[in-house]
Amino acid sequence: SIDVNLQRRVQSIADQWNDELTSIGVNDLAVVVKDVRTEETLAYVGNANPGRKRPGSEVDIIRSPRSTGSILKPLLYCALLQDGDILPNTLLPDVPININGFSPQNFNRQFNGAVPASEALARSLNVPSVHMLRRFGVPKFLDLLRKCGMTTLHKSASHYGLSLILGGAEGTLGDVTAMYARLSESYQNTDTSRIGKGDRLHGFPLTDKSALWWTFEALKEVNRPDEIDWRLVTSVKKVAWKTGTSYGFRDAWAVGVTPDYAVGVWAGNAQGQGVPGLTGARTAGPVMFDVFNLLPANEYDREYSRNGWFKEPDYGDYVLAEVCKESGHLKSISCGRVDTLALPRKSVRSEPCPYHKVIDGERYFVLPPSMEWYYRQHHPEYSYSLPKEKSDSQMEFIYPENGAMIYIPRQLDGSIQGITFNLAHRDPMKTVFWHIDNEYAGQTRIIHQMTLNPAIGRHNVTVVDESGNTISVGFTVCDGR
Ligand SMILES: [Zn+2]
Repeated sequence: SIDVNLQRRVQSIADQWNDELTSIGVNDLAVVVKDVRTEETLAYVGNANPGRKRPGSEVDIIRSPRSTGSILKPLLYCALLQDGDILPNTLLPDVPININGFSPQNFNRQFNGAVPASEALARSLNVPSVHMLRRFGVPKFLDLLRKCGMTTLHKSASHYGLSLILGGAEGTLGDVTAMYARLSESYQNTDTSRIGKGDRLHGFPLTDKSALWWTFEALKEVNRPDEIDWRLVTSVKKVAWKTGTSYGFRDAWAVGVTPDYAVGVWAGNAQGQGVPGLTGARTAGPVMFDVFNLLPANEYDREYSRNGWFKEPDYGDYVLAEVCKESGHLKSISCGRVDTLALPRKSVRSEPCPYHKVIDGERYFVLPPSMEWYYRQHHPEYSYSLPKEKSDSQMEFIYPENGAMIYIPRQLDGSIQGITFNLAHRDPMKTVFWHIDNEYAGQTRIIHQMTLNPAIGRHNVTVVDESGNTISVGFTVCDGR
């Protein structure tokens, strides 16, 4: 059911952008447009300018498995909301992590300390996404992606690991665009009891209207300062969209959805060579908006949509709950300002705000030391003012975690590389004394990093600050040959 007229116009947009992108070494471009309500393909450009011969021009990219970059993050956010694991704006840790040698970085290589989950999604921050996936579980997320319609995930959860959320798996533009279309269709489905076997939505796991609605809201935020020059985009329709950029700048994705349409765009080189500066937002994003602007607006007033955008969920689709304005968690007895939000039903079982404390009648907002260390660099208004003697913890290890297994690669000469320990102290001016297995190893101030060379086996690092506060971390060094 290709719409011939639309197909011609989408092809022409793809060809024009392809002409432009070829000049920066990006030779291939694919676009697919789907009708959300029927999931029919309205336009299909497997590769732009098919007549211009170049290596790879005959590849139908819409069916080719490519690294997914960040394009799967909205499904994870939605799944965590639906399960009540997070609320829309729950603060997530954005601090360095290292899990058996896997140490994700944000696109701009900075850490924010703590970021609301919705903002982490809109800005596509990698580190909070890894925390989200860790919370949800890789096997469970892999299963969810398959149920959502991803047909290219043939390997095990342990093969993908946490990189599953950062492009460690391959997907096709066709599958991914269909999955986004189903998010929209699932939201607008008014009678889920009638979904039978053979129905496209049969077994589709993301069904909570409130979780879907908050996901669309987060994805309509066009505040993505890290990636795009918005002056290049002439007119911006309201679209829930996400970009993806794969490792090595090989794949640029932009996939967006409205109540009526899903549009997927991929730019790159069919043969796989990366291009510095090839990012989803800069190359695929503007193409996607040009295509959306072609599509006829649907002005019908429906139960879940109006004027081409999603209406708020109906009474009965959500629960009302009081949420801490500062942490995004359910309000605890110690919180100050609160918002009342319409949330997914399972939200009521999520964790109450762990950061507000009331001591002697005074209210304090206190992040754990490792989050605070980075948060303070981006939030000058944050002042940690809990009286020192009232504080439960002055210090926290950023690396390693207690109980960590650390795999150490050997150098070429057979020697073992050192391990850099990383600690946050609430008071940077305090001197900290380091001990490994009860032997003194050195002292640090301001930046608390210490490189040590423990042998294979179990160890303990203990640090003591000048006031006598002490913390320890136990870990095991494994031969990473
Ligand atoms: Zn609070």
